[in-house]
Amino acid sequence: MSILLGCIADDFTGATDLANNLVRNGMRVAQTIGIPQQVLNAELDAVVVALKSRNIEPEAAIAQSLEALEYLLAQGAQQIFFKYCSTFDSTPKGNIGPVTEALMAALGADFTIATPAFPDNGRSVFKGYLFVGDQLLSESGMRDHPLTPMTDANLVRVMQAQCQNQVGLIEYQTILAGADAISSRIADLKASNTKIAIVDAVTNDDLYRIAPALKDLPLITGGSGIAIGLPSNFGLQAHPTSSKLPLASGYRAIVSGSCSQATNLQVECFKSLGGEMYAVNPLELNEKSTEQMLQEILTWAEPRLSHGSVLIYSSASPDQVKEVQSQLGVQAAGNTIENLLGSVAKGLVALGVGQLLVAGGETSGACVKALGIDQMQIGQQIDPGVPWCFAKVQNKPLHLALKSGNFGAADFFTSAFSKL
Ligand code: ADP
Repeated sequence: MSILLGCIADDFTGATDLANNLVRNGMRVAQTIGIPQQVLNAELDAVVVALKSRNIEPEAAIAQSLEALEYLLAQGAQQIFFKYCSTFDSTPKGNIGPVTEALMAALGADFTIATPAFPDNGRSVFKGYLFVGDQLLSESGMRDHPLTPMTDANLVRVMQAQCQNQVGLIEYQTILAGADAISSRIADLKASNTKIAIVDAVTNDDLYRIAPALKDLPLITGGSGIAIGLPSNFGLQAHPTSSKLPLASGYRAIVSGSCSQATNLQVECFKSLGGEMYAVNPLELNEKSTEQMLQEILTWAEPRLSHGSVLIYSSASPDQVKEVQSQLGVQAAGNTIENLLGSVAKGLVALGVGQLLVAGGETSGACVKALGIDQMQIGQQIDPGVPWCFAKVQNKPLHLALKSGNFGAADFFTSAFSKL
């Protein structure tokens, strides 16, 4: 197998988001959890290696990204894509700048672009400034992010602070003028020794105009938006078979450890439709072992699975979460609940679940880890940013959808299954 595009994503659900955009535009894609130890078992156009490198030390992020690069090049990748968040989540230390420069050096690339523009999700870049919906990045909720507060919306400045090399801008007028104008602007920037350019883009049409000018770059960096135009550079077009997964089978279940607004709404909606649900009360962990709670949950689920989908959730309101955190500790609560829900996912699959929804980014990571999944094939989109995926767990087929907290419509927990 020789792939066309090799992708490195700095977090897990972001990797799925990127894979989803590539599949929708005609690529057959597998996502791997870290660098796979085994040979990938499908005909593929692209591989997305999901790292967890967004919030670690820059040196560690560089080392992991270079290891992923080596793996992707060994699979025949003709071009490399470094994917980060469409809100450019980073600090003056990195990791977007340092990883970009390390990948450029390893590939011998003298130029690359950086654009988090993702119009489908309201991220646009104009004159180098990033907007989240109608707000500047620095005026959006991202200014208060606990790990990567974004207090400057000017991406040329933000990226320059993280880079050794000169950072420039390809402005909107050039984008409107089309691919030839963009290519000639790239040539000018290179001539003036600018190595990285932030690229303006406000609509999907802009992204499609930019893509042909990126054809010969060894490295592209950005959010998942820019990926929509890349498959056509390899002669591929949107095609239903690229998202074709094997037929789904087995029982249906939902595991939710996300306490985000959208998920809480989805739990409510599932309830209003009369769904079978089990509320995990984390405070019981004060008296019971994780193993005991796990057995209680599985004993509840087993007789219900043959009647329809079941929901097991620890999702709770902000006040309830605060109460749990004050009793168990913030980190300990997160880890213990993730562990429990991971074991629940594994137990459900052992009981015959073949179609599994997981809500929550960290929760998804825990479930995939507990299930021992190291690669997933990406299928059709359920809602923006969330595709159905397919994996083998101990040689048994499993369809799974991993939903990051704020994604998905209110009826996601039921509508997702109807799209399989
Ligand atoms: P999201 O994508 O919505 O941010 P995550 O799964 O990434 O969801 O994060 C949710 C975190 O909250 C996880 O660490 C999870 O274990 C934790 N958690 C889940 N339920 C509760 C709860 N009832 N109280 C406290 N923490 C919780």
